Amino acid sequence: MQRLASGPLGAVTSRARADFVGELTAMLPPEGVVTRPEALEGFQRDQTHVLGAGKPLAAALPRTAAEVSAALVLASKYRIPVVPRGAGSGLAGGANAVDGCLTLSMLRMDRIVEISTDDLVAVVQPGVMNATLAAEVAGQGLLYAPDPSSLEISSIGGNLATNAGGLRCVKYGVTRESTLGLEVVLADGTILRTGRRTVKGVAGFDLVGLFVGSEGTLGVITEATLRLRPAPPPAGTLLASFAGLADAAEAVAGMRGVSASVIELMDQTTIRAVEDWQRLGLDTSSAAILIVRSDGADFGRVELDVVELACQSSRATGILRSTDALESEGLMGARRAAFPALERLGITLLEDVAVPRGRIVELVAAVERIADEHQVQIGTFGHVGDGNLHPTLIIPRGDEAARGRALEAADAILAITLSLGGTISGEHGIGALKRERLADELGPEGIRVSWAIKNALDPLGIMNPGKVLPS
Ligand SMILES: Cc1cc2nc3c(=O)[nH]c(=O)nc-3n(C[C@H](O)[C@H](O)[C@H](O)COP(=O)(O)OP(=O)(O)OC[C@H]3O[C@@H](n4cnc5c(N)ncnc54)[C@H](O)[C@@H]3O)c2cc1C
Repeated sequence: MQRLASGPLGAVTSRARADFVGELTAMLPPEGVVTRPEALEGFQRDQTHVLGAGKPLAAALPRTAAEVSAALVLASKYRIPVVPRGAGSGLAGGANAVDGCLTLSMLRMDRIVEISTDDLVAVVQPGVMNATLAAEVAGQGLLYAPDPSSLEISSIGGNLATNAGGLRCVKYGVTRESTLGLEVVLADGTILRTGRRTVKGVAGFDLVGLFVGSEGTLGVITEATLRLRPAPPPAGTLLASFAGLADAAEAVAGMRGVSASVIELMDQTTIRAVEDWQRLGLDTSSAAILIVRSDGADFGRVELDVVELACQSSRATGILRSTDALESEGLMGARRAAFPALERLGITLLEDVAVPRGRIVELVAAVERIADEHQVQIGTFGHVGDGNLHPTLIIPRGDEAARGRALEAADAILAITLSLGGTISGEHGIGALKRERLADELGPEGIRVSWAIKNALDPLGIMNPGKVLPS
């Protein structure tokens, strides 16, 4: 597995670098360029703790698509690698700098351009934070469905570039399913507007679908037209506790056919980490809990009745139901705290695997077995209703042997996921972390076609090199 982000372009002379920085500085306002090495440290990496990162040559903080275009024309002229960056909350090293790159921070393009209640769309710039947009549309009785746990610390541009998932995907789908149109600046500076403002539309190739999830390797997203929905009725919430992780997984399998809006899992390691940190009153003796929500009629009563039956049939040791908004939000907060809580236990390697929902029981059993075999502590949580789990491998600080075992265990989890018909990334992306494993999933033909697309759009290879596609 690739663990270091490095730039393949290499051969840019120091003279070319100096000329590039000179022209960039002359082109953008003073607050739009950063070149001081100490200040550049803040643009170096995302939240992927096991990865190294290179040193940027400069960072640009554009305010308009025209400024992004000009920066890319300049980068093409001098063959400078370009790393687009949102809020840096990524978990695959996608925004990690490569040596000598220009980091393009999109956070100053942070305007909600329009919210149309007639057309049910929002037009936004990439630097808008997910939670800001969600709150703004909620104020108008609407829903922006994609809700990664990181909604307060991740940008819409980053969400688009990673095709972010979240807690509500089981009902409303991932970011791609809420994206109608995009403005993208290509590597040569071309400003491309693609997609539409209608929910339906099949004219031409689906370029929007191509750019969503391309992790900054095909272009820079400078605006998006996003699909909104009428706000659903208030949700009801069910919390079920289990004495075995396998029982919880079996209960999820038994919920087939239920239109729940959230189906989340936390194992005992995760429950204890959250409880130790936040003292929320979670039952730390449970081996696992499921948090299920439904926004169907009457607080999702019919759906949650079926869910309750499935949990009882799978030997739930306790079931609580609530229609109280504050109580439900508290539970969702506990789930959102899962990863930061596990981060307190050591260096974390957070996996992001997804299997067809019918194979979830096998995946959960395999992760428990791998933890035993490799002697690694693993906290497992995630969007179990999508078959998407985040087994989080915990490496005690300074323990090199444990680090080696964790890396092997992570590889074993990826291998078993693929053998179950799953994917090595449900929502976080490939970035620098998993690029050398991508061929295992896509096969040689998939990699060849992907490279053909990359080469057509970015012939000089300046866009986020060393990410996604294997060398
Ligand atoms: C506590 C925590 C919880 C999380 N929970 C979830 C979750 O539930 N679901 C989920 O999917 N993810 C989750 N994540 C991961 C992360 O938040 C997402 O991947 C998010 O979409 C990244 O957004 P960002 O703005 O931070 O992007 P960054 O990390 O800055 O960048 C991510 C990638 O997008 C590219 N990029 C950024 N902006 C642009 C742009 N304008 N144009 C082109 N490329 C661009 C970068 O080059 C990089 O490849 C979580 C992370 C944390 C720390």
